[in-house]
Order: sequence, then structure tokens, then C-alpha cells
Amino acid sequence: MIPENIEIIQSGEANGNQWIIRLPLPSGRVIFGLATENIYGGDWDLGPTWNYLIQGEEGLILIDTGRFGMGARLLEMLERAGLHGRDLTGITLTHGHEDHDGGLAELVRKTGAPVWVHPLYDRLRRSYAGQEPNIAKRDFSASCWHCFMPETFTQSQCRQYHRERDGLETNLLKGRIFPPDTEIQLHHLPGHCPDSLAFQIGSEALIIGDTLLPDITPHPSQEAFFTGVRDILPPADQRSPSVYGLRTYIRSLKKMQTLGRRFPRLTVLPAHRFYYNNRWGIIDAAQRSAEIIEHHRQRGLAIRTVLQPGPRTAEEIARELFAPQLLKGLGIRMAVNEVRSHLELLVHSGDVYWPTEDRAAATGETGFEDYIRRIEAD
Ligand SMILES: [Zn+2]
Ligand SMILES: [Zn+2]
Repeated sequence: MIPENIEIIQSGEANGNQWIIRLPLPSGRVIFGLATENIYGGDWDLGPTWNYLIQGEEGLILIDTGRFGMGARLLEMLERAGLHGRDLTGITLTHGHEDHDGGLAELVRKTGAPVWVHPLYDRLRRSYAGQEPNIAKRDFSASCWHCFMPETFTQSQCRQYHRERDGLETNLLKGRIFPPDTEIQLHHLPGHCPDSLAFQIGSEALIIGDTLLPDITPHPSQEAFFTGVRDILPPADQRSPSVYGLRTYIRSLKKMQTLGRRFPRLTVLPAHRFYYNNRWGIIDAAQRSAEIIEHHRQRGLAIRTVLQPGPRTAEEIARELFAPQLLKGLGIRMAVNEVRSHLELLVHSGDVYWPTEDRAAATGETGFEDYIRRIEAD
């Protein structure tokens, strides 16, 4: 079933890849969705990246640019939607993950469109010779210093990507208003990524990036990532890991819960799974935020239970909690990342501590649920 206001320009694969849609809003603005291929597969599959174009009186804005190498594909898709790359008046990003900013440098080369980014993105997309955690990450953007992909992969696949994003010319998004189109409001929603943004078009639509996804729960970052990049963050963000970790992510989800209640008619446009398994992933901002918070509450409780018999490493916890097919290949690294984010929150709530460097243990306290309830939207 097609939601009534979505017009299909091109249908693609069952997982959404190659779809082009048109979504006219009551105000007269039009949003186009262009889905570009992702490499990640297996049971952690996100599906393609949904990049969105906003066509309004003030011009044509592209939000997200797909993976590295997708710039030309996006321009082709734009033409197929009856638009032109030369008409782009701005390009911006929901966040600085490679499946969203990978095509950016190529699109800038081909269209000359100005780029607008969050100030945190601007710091993290650069390399800082001498400050990287190890020599293999020299010339790698700071946002990827904590990446857990094997070196055999990153050395062959990511070098060019890092070089190009380091050389970008950018304009900074500093307030709540999006300068190239002042009717678009910005929400800074750190947690999945420190520079995560949502773009709100009146009470009609919300381009949410990876902060809310249908079917799947986005990965929270770890507060531990903050330690490695602290010195390169803007001074206001150097004091505490306020843009990293699960606590930060839950705060952003609570913000979206409030926004969703205030604007119940918002069409939420997610960056993955908008169309997947032959169906549309229509979500409600308030309800989906609540579901994801509940998911993390339950996972935290499950980890506390796993720790009851005695101390465990993050990997041992992951092996107890996740189904074997989710632990294959890179899956185990993803699962450990997820467990570590939760352990940080369980430590904040007083339920968990680290008696040794690599093993977490239960304190016997049960403050976790209450702790989550008390996280404020700020
Ligand atoms: Zn992401
Ligand atoms: Zn993504």
C-alpha cells in the first residue's frame, strides 16, 4: 500500500534501493526522496540511504549525499525527477557518517553548490596530523578515529573519502534557522552521531536522518569516543561528553517525543528503511521515540541481569544477549559497541561498575529505570 500523498517516480528494489519518490506538501513545497545503495549487509542491514531534496520558493536543497561514490548517481536520479544539479542552492547533511556525506565532495565538484554543515561536523570531518590515535589513522578524519572496521578495509576503502572531506569548503549552521531556506528549522540531536541534525519543514515534515528509523534501532555512540577527540571539539563541548553516548541519545529522543506531540501531523522522513521489504516505514515521531527509549530501557535491564552471576567483559555480554547470526563477521563489533553504550548508562545510574579494566559487574543497585525516566529533554 502506498501512503496517499507519495507519488512514485521510479520504483526500484524490494529493499528501497533506487526508488525515487515525490511528496507534495500542503504548503506547496515538494520533497523528493532518492534512495542510494549501501554496502552494509547481513543481519545488521540498514537498507539504502534515503537522501531528500526540498524544493521551495527559495531554491532546491539536498539533504544527504549517499555513500562515497554516489554523487553521480544522485545527479542522475535528480534528472530523472525532472530537476537539475545546477539548480541546487545548497547541500547539507543529517550527520557525518559515510553513508550520508560520502557523495558530498563529488557533488560539490560537479554542481558548485554551497555546503552547509553543523559546526561539530566541520571539526570532525578534518584530520589532525599528530593527534590521531595511531599512525594507521593518519590523514583520517577525527570522526572515524574510533571506527572498528578492520584496517585491511579502511586502508583500501577510506583514504580517498577522508582526503576529500578534509578539503571541503563549508558554511556553518549555527542557530535554529537554516540560512539558505529560512522556513526550515534545525534541531541538533546528538547521540547516534555528535553532529546529528533534523530538518523541520513547518508542521508538515521532519527529515530526521538516523535518529529515528522504522523497524530498527539506530546505534548509539559511546561517551568513550569523546576522550579521543576532546581537544578538537569547540570549547563549549570540551567539558563533558555532552554530544556522545546513550544518555545524550535518549535526551534527543525525548526532544523528538515532545516535538512529535506538538506537531502530530509531521511526516517523518527517515534516512533508512523508508521503504523496505516491499512496504513503507511510516512512523510517528512521538511514538517511535518512545519505542526506541523503551528498547534501550529493556536492553539495559537485560545487561544488568546478565551481570547478576558475576563480572563479564562487554564481549561476553554481547554473546549472551545477541542471536548468533547477529554476531557473525563485523556483527560482534557492532554488538559490543551497543553493549558498551549501555554499560556507560548503567554506570551513571549506579547499577554497574568496573572492578577490573575489562570486566563490568553489578553493584546490586536498581536505579537504571528511574535514571532513564529522569533524563531531561533539556
Ligand atoms: Zn548514521
Ligand atoms: Zn545511516
